[in-house]
Amino acid sequence: MNYVKQFGVKPGSKVDLAKVAASFSKVHESHEHALPEIEQYSQKLHDPQYLMYAEDKRWLLICLQGRDAAGKDGTINRVLGAMNPQGCTVTGFKVPSKDEADHDFLWRYHRQTSAKGQVAIFNRSHYEDVLVVRVHDLVPKEVWSKRSAQINDFEKTLADNGTHILKFDLHIDPEEQLERFKQRIDDPARHWKISDGDYAERPFWDVYTQAFEDAIGKCSTEHAPWFVIPSNHK
Ligand code: ADP
Repeated sequence: MNYVKQFGVKPGSKVDLAKVAASFSKVHESHEHALPEIEQYSQKLHDPQYLMYAEDKRWLLICLQGRDAAGKDGTINRVLGAMNPQGCTVTGFKVPSKDEADHDFLWRYHRQTSAKGQVAIFNRSHYEDVLVVRVHDLVPKEVWSKRSAQINDFEKTLADNGTHILKFDLHIDPEEQLERFKQRIDDPARHWKISDGDYAERPFWDVYTQAFEDAIGKCSTEHAPWFVIPSNHK
């Protein structure tokens, strides 16, 4: 299967997340069954990253978005596990600090883009500024509605200067999210991952869907494509 073709969002296309089956698992019945393919693709990540590090000319920026419990942390664990950590940085973006909020919205992201030869992974990204910010009216519509264009300009600038950008939305459905919340509550080792805030976001599911569809549709470009990855099955 050509995963890029299957999950890549064509520039200019309209995104309908309801049409993406979150429970898609290709031919794999289980994680164990998928292991040989995971191993093969891990190697495919490892070798070019080593060359990129040695070449010291280009950058790779991976942006991960998804609902709470979509699997961003686990994905980073796996992706980093396949690469040389010396060539990677991971930055998680939370509610902006006072200092961050005192600057233009892209400031804190630009500072964390990678250096030459490096892979930068964003755990949440500048897309929060058209997702959570839009859903909760954290800035007026006149402000957030201009941001997709501003994000496209920002990403074009990065791309023109040597950054290869890949953006992934880990797509789960509400039932799977609830199940994962329950597992987190039941498992003492993962209890810390759950907060009241996670449940508080659930009533906004459809508003988030609309925001995701808009952001992905407007900002999937040749130089910074979006991929919507069915993620009910890790
Ligand atoms: P995690 O990323 O592991 O879920 P948290 O549970 O601390 O970490 O969640 C981070 C929170 O920060 C999320 O609710 C997210 O929506 C919020 N956040 C990230 N960026 C922004 C932003 N620019 N403005 C407001 N909230 C943001």
